[in-house]
Amino acid sequence: MSELIVGIDLGTTNSEIAVVRDGRVEVMAVSGGVRLLPSVVGIADDGALLVGEPARNQYVLHPERTVRSIKRRMGEATRVPMGEQDYAPQEISAMILCRLKQIAEAHLGRPVVKAVITVPAYFSDAQRQATREAGEIAGLEVVRIINEPTAAALAYESSHKGARKALVYDLGGGTFDVSVVNLEGDVVEVLASHGDNHLGGDDFDHKIVEHALEHLRVRHGVDAGAQPMAMARLQRAAEAAKIALSDQPYAMLSEEYLLEHEGTPVHLSLELSRDDFEALIEPYIDETLAAVHVALSGAGLTVSDIDEILLVGGATRTPMVARRLEQELGILPRGEVDPDLCVAMGAAIQAGVIAGAQTPTVLIDVTPYTFGTGALAELNGETYPYCFVPLIRKNTPIPVSRSEVFYTVIDGQEKVDVTVYQGEDPDALNDIEIGRFTIEGLRDAPAGNRIVTTFSLDLNGILHVSSREKDTGLEYSITIDNAIARFQADDLLQARERVRTLFGEDAGASAAQPRDEAGGRRLRVEAGALVEKAERLLGGAGAEDAEDLVNGIEAVRDAMAGDEAELQTAMDALADLLYYLES
Ligand code: AMP
Repeated sequence: MSELIVGIDLGTTNSEIAVVRDGRVEVMAVSGGVRLLPSVVGIADDGALLVGEPARNQYVLHPERTVRSIKRRMGEATRVPMGEQDYAPQEISAMILCRLKQIAEAHLGRPVVKAVITVPAYFSDAQRQATREAGEIAGLEVVRIINEPTAAALAYESSHKGARKALVYDLGGGTFDVSVVNLEGDVVEVLASHGDNHLGGDDFDHKIVEHALEHLRVRHGVDAGAQPMAMARLQRAAEAAKIALSDQPYAMLSEEYLLEHEGTPVHLSLELSRDDFEALIEPYIDETLAAVHVALSGAGLTVSDIDEILLVGGATRTPMVARRLEQELGILPRGEVDPDLCVAMGAAIQAGVIAGAQTPTVLIDVTPYTFGTGALAELNGETYPYCFVPLIRKNTPIPVSRSEVFYTVIDGQEKVDVTVYQGEDPDALNDIEIGRFTIEGLRDAPAGNRIVTTFSLDLNGILHVSSREKDTGLEYSITIDNAIARFQADDLLQARERVRTLFGEDAGASAAQPRDEAGGRRLRVEAGALVEKAERLLGGAGAEDAEDLVNGIEAVRDAMAGDEAELQTAMDALADLLYYLES
């Protein structure tokens, strides 16, 4: 049996402890399946020491005997008051480490005396030394201190061989760091690091709390800000709403009997959309993107030198983070290793390597495909009815469930066709259609009626897609078995190659056929959209224009049966007419 060394992520908001066993990385449960230990320490009413969730729970009511975010004070020659006494930051951190050590010992059934602990890349010598001391106070020999981005990169790249440069974007509860790292074999070098150690998911929660406070002021004329109990509830509700908005387009903040105002109870019931939430947090995301550029220039690199972006920290589950990074840097960020746990996993991998265990791997189930639906949106600067809207991106860990809101496009629209695609192409018609259904019987509403579509993919590759009219609850759904057992893109290429070889030289032309067919199909779809648009204009057109419109529509319809050049000519004529009528 190899030596036992654990890996610890001693975080500002949460801490975790992990170990490598039988070549696998395990993050140990703190209680009932939960693997995050809140990095909060406190003294209870009866003088008992509280670590983790119970300490976090008492913070709002008893801040004087509770300590949070001690990591920010590490390395300072200071004393932190807690209850009747005060403590060095190392001592408070040691209490968290002690608790983690106990958890590991209970889990493994043997004493744990050695650990690898992670610290932010920007930590000074004094801060690293304080972390080491915290370990010693807790009865742990700190065999190595490693940088958090290094640990994250190890969790992602434990089996990767080639050299590559990665951007590690780490947005936790209260801190943000971005690092540029060079990965080569087992060696991870941090080239540059930048960040803000007072920015994180907690700020997102505060924005929601402020939004709710404003609602309470306007709607009920009350100021809940001065009431600690109500604020504690609001903070929890805000965090829960934020987390829900990572997977759904809407979330409810509802707290019954939140407080009393002039003798009557005040209930909070406020719906928040993802769009509203994103508007609230946009300035923070902008700040992080600016820091990304600072880190890149600090490393003397440009965006094009970066091979991949790794997401670390719970707050990176906010979809806007990956979306904005992709827009800004043109790379789809990787988030498949649980962003809350990947630093602890990397620490355990490093510990395993030091202990001489076989090179451990992080095993995760991810979807190899992107799944989504089609919608009317802008494609290449033009409105196009079959834009691909991905709901579940490839490499997302499964099981997963994601929802998105769509809107009807015409007044009184009674039905919506929902097509399910697998692929990556922004033009849904170039992706693979794997199912479709229609939601019909919608209420009589102006354009903009909200339809919430949910994609749920389970471990067996079964994809369940449902669409619900938000205001009535009317719902239709479809289940697609074997959604991830279809032809992989590479297989498709190889298959084409095989067919090509079998058919000799001429097969080149026939292999290209599907693309031409797709082009022809697209032209016909565009023609259909053009005709629909012309028909909508018919109602409001004068007699003369109406006649021209009818002729134009007929010409396109006739040409649909003919060749593409003829169809294109008829479409151009109709498009010119629409342009003239609309301008
Ligand atoms: P960490 O410090 O890495 O543990 O990250 C904690 C932060 O991640 C807190 O602000 C959490 O509210 C936030 N968080 C956790 N899960 C999610 C989620 N699904 N969506 C958005 N934020 C999340």
